[in-house]
Amino acid sequence: DNRNFERLSEMLSDVVTLLSSQAKLFDVKIILELEEDVSIFCDKTQIKQVLINLIKNAVEEMTEGGEIHIVVESNKHQCAISIIDEGPGIPQHILHKLKEPFFTTKKDGTGLGLMISEKIIENHNGTIDIFQNIEKGSTFQITLPLHQNSI
Ligand code: ADP
Ligand code: MG
Repeated sequence: DNRNFERLSEMLSDVVTLLSSQAKLFDVKIILELEEDVSIFCDKTQIKQVLINLIKNAVEEMTEGGEIHIVVESNKHQCAISIIDEGPGIPQHILHKLKEPFFTTKKDGTGLGLMISEKIIENHNGTIDIFQNIEKGSTFQITLPLHQNSI
């Protein structure tokens, strides 16, 4: 574990760059919406791994293309990173299983991404919440504290 203050904008643009060719292949456009550039006290490699997991999951659901919006909002104490997709959404009856190890609906999936992501975020005193979008798709929202002394 190697924690420092890291700019969220930098971590997000690194990850979006990394996933850009896969997104293109799926005809998916990733749109970053940061109102201000916050820094979080975190292990950069681990947080990037979580962002990769969640954005990759979003891309993989969007077999018909579309847009993924990554929205960052913050107040004095915490920031929320929402990954909003236009995929099929999550059927109610599997919602509670998503974070379980080895649960996957993909033929070559490991089912470990969300479990590992949640572990990492919990280690940083944050949470991952899953919402159904009103129109279509789902939102995976990471909430993290902004200050070192709250970790
Ligand atoms: P994997 O990607 O290997 O399947 P994950 O733990 O990352 O494992 O995800 C578990 C399952 O959660 C996926 O197989 C999929 O069914 C569901 N899931 C994850 N992200 C989304 C999403 N954005 N939209 C719909 N379903 C999702
Ligand atoms: Mg995954």
